[in-house]
Amino acid sequence: MRAMNSPAVKTRFAPSPTGLIHVGNVRTALFNALYARHGHGVFLLRIEDTDLERSRDEHTIALMEDLRWLGLDWQEGPAVGGEHGPYAQSQRDEIYQRYFALLEDEGLAYPCFCSQRELDLSRKTQLASGRPPRYAGTCARLNPEERQKRLDKGIQPTLRFRVLDGDVVRFEDLVRGPQSFATDDIGDFVIRRSEGNSAAFFFSNAIDDALMGVTHVLRGEDHLTNTPRQILLQRALSLPTPHYGHISMIVGSDGTPLSKRSGSRSVRELREIGYLPLAVVNYLARLGHHYENNAYMAWDELAKDFDLPKLGRSPARYDGAQLDYYQRQAVQHADSKTLWQWMGEAVHALVPAAQRDDFVAAVRGNIMLPGEALHWARVLFAATLALQGEAQAVVTQAGPDFFAAAAAAHAAHPADYAAMVERLKRDSGAKGKNLFKPLRAALTGELDGPELAPLLTLMGAERARARLARWI
Ligand code: GLU
Repeated sequence: MRAMNSPAVKTRFAPSPTGLIHVGNVRTALFNALYARHGHGVFLLRIEDTDLERSRDEHTIALMEDLRWLGLDWQEGPAVGGEHGPYAQSQRDEIYQRYFALLEDEGLAYPCFCSQRELDLSRKTQLASGRPPRYAGTCARLNPEERQKRLDKGIQPTLRFRVLDGDVVRFEDLVRGPQSFATDDIGDFVIRRSEGNSAAFFFSNAIDDALMGVTHVLRGEDHLTNTPRQILLQRALSLPTPHYGHISMIVGSDGTPLSKRSGSRSVRELREIGYLPLAVVNYLARLGHHYENNAYMAWDELAKDFDLPKLGRSPARYDGAQLDYYQRQAVQHADSKTLWQWMGEAVHALVPAAQRDDFVAAVRGNIMLPGEALHWARVLFAATLALQGEAQAVVTQAGPDFFAAAAAAHAAHPADYAAMVERLKRDSGAKGKNLFKPLRAALTGELDGPELAPLLTLMGAERARARLARWI
């Protein structure tokens, strides 16, 4: 039974800090965070840094920053604390050693002295005779004297968990439904490495989920076959077992697991390119999870509609175009101050302070990344204007008379775009795209872009006049 004050739902993200987090990993974190929020529960962060060679503090710091940037705040874990700490596995060794001792005392675990060569050989033999490879049980049968003899030789043993044959481990996967695994196929497995007596992944991960009161584990389907082992460990130690759900993997456009080539990016990269956190979150929340509503949603809505039955079983296909769609939406929805910050220093240097909000409002519908904001800032506020692509041809074709009329119309109505256009229509005889294209081309250097009226106001009468007069 749950303790009175423990939440009904506690999910967790348990990264190994061996590098920057990529979209695949962070989607796992996101699903757990959304499910916790959906159930008004707790999202816990645990750092699985037992692999001392590959784990780095700077990766831990970076991944915490990345999670926070995305809005994936944890309510329990490093930096925020909680009653089940410490939350870095490198600091939990004492706890693991206690549970190793318990298992050994009960005869449920034993030291194994087999060398890697012996293990490889046995594996080969089993595979050759068509049997699933599992530990042959050599050291399970050693008597105390035989053990001592090996210890005296200075062999540093691993610790193996004893798996009883003839049993079946069953559980209901939150995503994949009923699962069953025969213990005959599992075999005794290593729970403590020989190097430094450190806990193996199976062990520390299972013990910590139980001790930290995690109720739901959503993780990659590559962990599915680990789950029966972990359940056996939890049972042997009379610890609670969380509900496990194995989410489908992400594949690239070519159907193979997501890689750098097929679009996998680190969260860091996405941020540096200029993706907004809610764009990434909106996209990833739909990668292997189905929302009825495809509209861009805020955090609370995403969490409210997130649910386990909506998690897909087939591989989720990563699609950069979808991410871009949500990015445009995020740009549309962000507040002016956020977008201004996002646009960056080069934009800040060009756009006068008094015109910030108007600039943001004018261009937000036409930009996806900060570089495009910079383009429009240059168009509007830089001293010179280069005509892009076809714009030059359009201007030439309209001819000097058109621009003489345009300059006169502008001089008559410098602050009233509609009146200016009316007048130009009348004086030049041009209409429709024959009027708007050359006007836009001369004023902005482009044939497309944000609405012209606010751009005209932003660039100011003097600049507009000069740009029209240039082609007379
Ligand atoms: N540290 C493990 C990993 O990053 C955690 C797996 C799990 O979520 O249980 O793969």
